[in-house]
Amino acid sequence: MASYESEHAIDPPSTNPSERPRRPDLSTFFSTLSQITPDTSVPRTRQHAVPVPNEVSAAFRNLADAFGVMRRDSRGTDSEFLDSLIESLMSSAERPPREIEGVDEEYIAGLERVSIKKVRKEDDCPICGNPFSDDPHPLLVRLPCHSTHIFDLECVRPWLRLRGTCPLDRVDLGKRERERKKKHLEDIKKNAKPEDEEEEWDGLYG
Ligand SMILES: [Zn+2]
Ligand SMILES: [Zn+2]
Repeated sequence: MASYESEHAIDPPSTNPSERPRRPDLSTFFSTLSQITPDTSVPRTRQHAVPVPNEVSAAFRNLADAFGVMRRDSRGTDSEFLDSLIESLMSSAERPPREIEGVDEEYIAGLERVSIKKVRKEDDCPICGNPFSDDPHPLLVRLPCHSTHIFDLECVRPWLRLRGTCPLDRVDLGKRERERKKKHLEDIKKNAKPEDEEEEWDGLYG
């Protein structure tokens, strides 16, 4: 006969809604992400150029799960919007891309910060659906695609790292960033004078 204790050994955690965190814990997502996006400051070897498809799938699935929790807990959120994000993540989990097209942490750190004083009291984060003013430590960012595309930094960060697009209009910020970096590298190359070119001018000073 099972004792009372063995049947009730695990108490469910307290579910006081006022103590509910603003968003689910994303540490699993970020540790998976670090497996598939090696530190870009270290030169990449061929071996690391293509991440393992299973891990890529896992990252997309982790984030879809987290958004699923937000959808379930949301009060005033546009659940159709979250559904579209989840659907997009799940389709990538099924057919993982060969490379992660998200932006890096440097890009995230450079996003325009928005003061809580600059938003209306009723404005909320499109992802978690919580009013910005509810957050005791608000950290808001504006994406460069549109002046009204403002999010909680911690809500939009995982999506940007993985997808590199604005969740609202899907402007490909990652692609813009890759093109900007590529152009920057080309400019450096152009400005650095190759040695043989210098030799051609020797006659003028001789
Ligand atoms: Zn949020
Ligand atoms: Zn946008």
